[in-house]
Amino acid sequence: MTETADTVARDDRRIFAVETVRKIIQFLCFVLFNAAVFGLAPLSVILPVVHSLGTPQKTIGDAFTILQKMLYENLFPWLPLASFVLAAAVLGRSLCGWVCPFGFIQDLLVYIKKRHAKVSLRTHQSSVNVKYLILAVTLFISGTLAVSLAMGVGESYRRALGVFAPAPFNALSPSDTLFAILPRIVLESWYGLVAESLLASPLLWARIFILGIFLLLAVYVPRSWCRYACPHGALLAVLNRFSFLGLQRDPVKCTKDGCRQCVEVCPMRIRILELPWEKFSDPECIYCLKCAAACPTNAIKPKFP
Ligand code: SF4
Ligand code: SF4
Repeated sequence: MTETADTVARDDRRIFAVETVRKIIQFLCFVLFNAAVFGLAPLSVILPVVHSLGTPQKTIGDAFTILQKMLYENLFPWLPLASFVLAAAVLGRSLCGWVCPFGFIQDLLVYIKKRHAKVSLRTHQSSVNVKYLILAVTLFISGTLAVSLAMGVGESYRRALGVFAPAPFNALSPSDTLFAILPRIVLESWYGLVAESLLASPLLWARIFILGIFLLLAVYVPRSWCRYACPHGALLAVLNRFSFLGLQRDPVKCTKDGCRQCVEVCPMRIRILELPWEKFSDPECIYCLKCAAACPTNAIKPKFP
């Protein structure tokens, strides 16, 4: 074997090792999140990753859902906010890369195709902001409803919002559809208990449509939901800048423009080579470490603090 072929094989082995460890952790977290089906009681843990509202027996609480529910019940959402701030301060957005069940599903879908679509930089940069818009609209609805209910003038507003009142984002969230609504429909159909009114509901079909779009997109564009639409990801992205965790690129080892392998493998399309080498905590970085594993000169490493 030539020296170049040997190096390529070694790099491939390193990427495979990192990805295998990450997949095992993602899988174990996926099982833990859904372990109620094996009889595990709910745990007193709230994490800032997308899961679902509709599974009453879920084991781990999802911070953004609880934040909306607390506002709806006129409580200050200090617990979910603390979960976001603490997780982001210590680990940045790495829960997205290593823990989130919906992120895991997208990472699996990526294997369906060998080559993925290249989103132009312009489209990518403008689409990234969509998730901030979804976050802002959700917080606006939940916040204004909370204030109007506290002032005793919110009843008609609550009625007008209908199913969107308790948790506006979850009413259409693809994660809720995948992990709560569809399993419930399958189970109820199995026992012949599914309500016809549910199957005829336009909201259900809107949910399925949104889920289908994002699952399909994830096959062609890695982590497209996380990049462009997830409000959890948006809130973590805002806080990620202040994270103790970051990445460092050794400028002596890095051959930069002659290589660009880190940029090529990044699922979040981060322009690593344009970021400060001492430490970078890009808002979009999910700390999957693909860049570090792909670097042939070992120039990229996690940095804490
Ligand atoms: S951005 Fe992706 S990984 Fe992070 S919480 Fe949202 S769905 Fe999960
Ligand atoms: S910069 Fe590296 S660690 Fe961050 S998302 Fe991209 S590949 Fe993953």
